[in-house]
Amino acid sequence: MSNAYFKIQEPQNEPYFSFAPGTPERESLKKRLEELKSEVIEIPAIINGKEVRTSRTVDVIMPHNHQHKLATLHLCGEKEVNMAIEASLEAQKEWSVMPWEERVAIFQKAADLVTGPWRDTMNAATMLGQSKTPHQAEIEAAGELADFLRFGAWYLANIMADQPYSPEGIWNRVEYRPLEGFVFAVSPFNFTAIAGNLPSAPAMCGNVAIWKPSTESVYSNYFFMKILKEAGLPDGVINFVPGHGPDIGDPVFDSPHFSGLHFTGSEPTFNRIWKTIANNLDRYKTYPRIVGETGGKDFIFAHNSADVDALVVAALRAAFEYQGQKCSAASRMYIPNSIWPEFQEKFLVEVAEIQVGDVEDFSNFMGAVISKKAFDKITSYIDFAREADDAEIISGGDYDDTVGYFIKPTVILTKNPKFKTMEEEIFGPVLTIYVYEDDQFEETLDLCDSTSPFALTGAIFAKNRYVVKKMSDRFRQSAGNFYINEKPTGAVVNQQPFGGSRKSGTNDKAGSVINMLRWLSARSIKEARVAAKDWRYPYMGSAPEES
Ligand code: NAD
Repeated sequence: MSNAYFKIQEPQNEPYFSFAPGTPERESLKKRLEELKSEVIEIPAIINGKEVRTSRTVDVIMPHNHQHKLATLHLCGEKEVNMAIEASLEAQKEWSVMPWEERVAIFQKAADLVTGPWRDTMNAATMLGQSKTPHQAEIEAAGELADFLRFGAWYLANIMADQPYSPEGIWNRVEYRPLEGFVFAVSPFNFTAIAGNLPSAPAMCGNVAIWKPSTESVYSNYFFMKILKEAGLPDGVINFVPGHGPDIGDPVFDSPHFSGLHFTGSEPTFNRIWKTIANNLDRYKTYPRIVGETGGKDFIFAHNSADVDALVVAALRAAFEYQGQKCSAASRMYIPNSIWPEFQEKFLVEVAEIQVGDVEDFSNFMGAVISKKAFDKITSYIDFAREADDAEIISGGDYDDTVGYFIKPTVILTKNPKFKTMEEEIFGPVLTIYVYEDDQFEETLDLCDSTSPFALTGAIFAKNRYVVKKMSDRFRQSAGNFYINEKPTGAVVNQQPFGGSRKSGTNDKAGSVINMLRWLSARSIKEARVAAKDWRYPYMGSAPEES
């Protein structure tokens, strides 16, 4: 029962710590890294608020030191999924009718816990488990995660206030109900913030969720479950069910109560899941909402009026930060012949300075790639380029997995604009460059637009404003997040709502009101104050001249 219009304060983006030498946050983070490293924890499932251990376990390791075990993970299957479905449907009875401001209070508190007492833990866990540098961990595991939660609450408050027109004698209302059934949240390894947001956004809207984290990021994700508990999230509202994809997905998609998918991950996985849902359509009580953000083959396109120094910095950060494992990472680049020599000289000097190694050594710019599987896949592309006649590796190309899954930042130069590494998502520190003739500018724009099935992020570099306009128009459908004289990575909640179209997903823009609306099912209510008492309409009366 709410007896007032409660106000949610409009949030601000969380500021980031620098971790520069001598700062207190640097010392505090280093201490927490040591503490976490010194113990091996158990990661159970959390179903109905209770820890559930299973007979199948795997080791959770550090990608940059794969002999170091961080945790023992309990893998779930059909039995645990069914327990989670039952728990979520039971929790739904109370949660779905809880006033929205009481619900968002929990997630606002969780945000303050993330940026307050749990900040070091979230950053350290993301560094150790996903091999992120302090900066890469801070901007997302602390900053972006808190932004998702705080702005989600704010967007929801605004949605609730959006009400229809009522003419005289009528009261029209729209009620924003959660979906009937449970939402399945499936998260990728590469962002702790995305993982936390996938079950939280629907839950804020009054839904119950089953969250399947990636087994490769489960370490930081588990700590976020603890934060939700501390923030007061009732048992069963979000059930944490780690396991291998189909082991969890198949029993979920068999349930008649499945009502929504909140997915982020690769395109092939999303396609498989969508087909399974389609095959099961007849058994569902309601048409499931399907929200999926998938892969990218993100580009940087330079015009000959580009600022070369800005281009160098943007390309380096966009291609190699977090080892190129961002869905938005630049992985193909188009440069005109006239500025290529200057760019090449400056860029290769900078790339050669990048240090790759243990993320606990704060002088490193890059850590390891996430797993042996990822290492093998990425290095197979590098080997392919090394053998090819129409490409050459002009920087990097070395890799070593003796201690951790380390791959040097690699730059490939190709004469073939359709070279394999210009077309396919590699998801590693590999940038392929195609140099075009200046007089082939327009044709190369077409080439860039048509080379990949994805349309996630893209950046253009030009000083000439006519050219900026032309490129923006030409790339209208080529990227859901489009950047002008700026790198194509690092979207911020409430500033650049994130998502792509074509094969990059449903473009429901994570961290925006567009996304929140997907987890609500509106009910329109019309109420008459004085009801009609005669069924006849005035036109039916007879006029004097007609009688
Ligand atoms: P992935 O597709 O391998 O896995 C994603 C999740 O799906 C994991 O939790 C996995 O276990 C699960 N899964 C696999 N099969 C399943 C099934 N049958 N049923 C249910 N769940 C199943 O992706 P990943 O390697 O973890 O993440 C990298 C990918 O994610 C890249 O393609 C990247 O571009 C994409 N990504 C996209 C965005 C975006 O906003 N567009 C953001 C981050 C990552």
